[in-house]
Amino acid sequence: MDLGIKGKRALVCASSKGLGLGCAEALAEAGVHLTMNARSAGPLEEAAQDIRDRFGVEVTAVAADITTPDGREDVLAAAGQIDILVTNAGGPPPGLWSDWSREDFIAALDANMLTPIALMTEILPHMMQRGWGRVVNITSQSVKAPIGVLGLSNAARTGLTGYVAGTARQVAPHGVTINNLLPGIHATDRAVSLDSGVSQQQNISMEEARAQREATIPARRYGTREEFGAMCAFICSQHAGFMVAQNVLLDGGATNFTI
Ligand code: NAP
Repeated sequence: MDLGIKGKRALVCASSKGLGLGCAEALAEAGVHLTMNARSAGPLEEAAQDIRDRFGVEVTAVAADITTPDGREDVLAAAGQIDILVTNAGGPPPGLWSDWSREDFIAALDANMLTPIALMTEILPHMMQRGWGRVVNITSQSVKAPIGVLGLSNAARTGLTGYVAGTARQVAPHGVTINNLLPGIHATDRAVSLDSGVSQQQNISMEEARAQREATIPARRYGTREEFGAMCAFICSQHAGFMVAQNVLLDGGATNFTI
C-alpha cells in the first residue's frame, strides 16, 4: 500500500533502538526523511546510517536528551520543518507505590508527559499553518489497564492521554491528527530489563521470566519493533486522516477487556 507520505519530514524521538527505531524504519520505507534522536551518539549514528543505506532517505541524527529543554532545542533546530512527530523516551523504572518520592514523579512526568507536550506545543502551530500534520505518541498498555510495578508510568502516561484527548480535537480542523500508540510487551531492551527484574525478584532464569510473561499474552509471544513501526507509519499516512485522538493498543490481546 502506498502510504502517500513520500517526501514528508519526520522527527522520531528516542529512536536508535526499540520501538522508536521500528517507527523510524517504517517511515523511511514509506519515503519519509527523518530526524532521529537518542542520548548515545554511537548507536544513533549506526542506526541512522543503516536507514540511509537501506531506504535512501535523508537522515539527520541528533544525540541529545529529549527530556531536557536544551536537548529539545538542539533536536528542533536540526530538524527544521516537521510534518510527522513521533514522541518517545525511556520509560520510568519499576518499583513499589510506597517508594516513590515527589522527585521520582517529577522525573517521570517530565519524560513521559511534559516532554511530548512541549514538543507538540512547539510543532503543532507550524503543522496547522501548513494544513497537514501527524503526531503519534508512544505511550503504553498501562494507559488502558494499570501495571502495578509501573506506577510512575501509569501516572505520567494517563496524564498525557488526557491532554491528547482534548488537544487532538482542537487541531483536527487544521488537518493535523494526534493519536497514541500503546505498546504491550515488545522484544526490545526495555523488555529485557523488565524480564531481568522478574528473574531477580523470583530467582528464576531470564528464559523462565520471558516464558512466564509470554504465557500472559494470548498471542503467546512478544511483539516486534517491525509490527509496531508498521502501525505507526499507517497512522502517519494519508489514509489515516480521519483517525483522531485514538489510543491504539498493540499487545497481542494481553489487556482483557471488551472495548
Ligand atoms: P528501548 O529498547 O530501551 O529503547 C529506548 C530508546 O530510547 C533508545 O534508542 C534510547 O537511546 C532512547 N532514549 C531513552 N531515553 C532517552 C532520552 N531521554 N532522550 C533521548 N533518547 C532516549 O525502549 P523501548 O522498548 O523501545 O520503549 C520505548 C518506550 O515505550 C518506553 O517509554 C517504554 O517504557 C515504552 N514501552 C515499551 C514496552 C516494551 O515492551 N518494549 C511496553 C510498554 C511501553 P539512548 O539510551 O542512547 O538514549
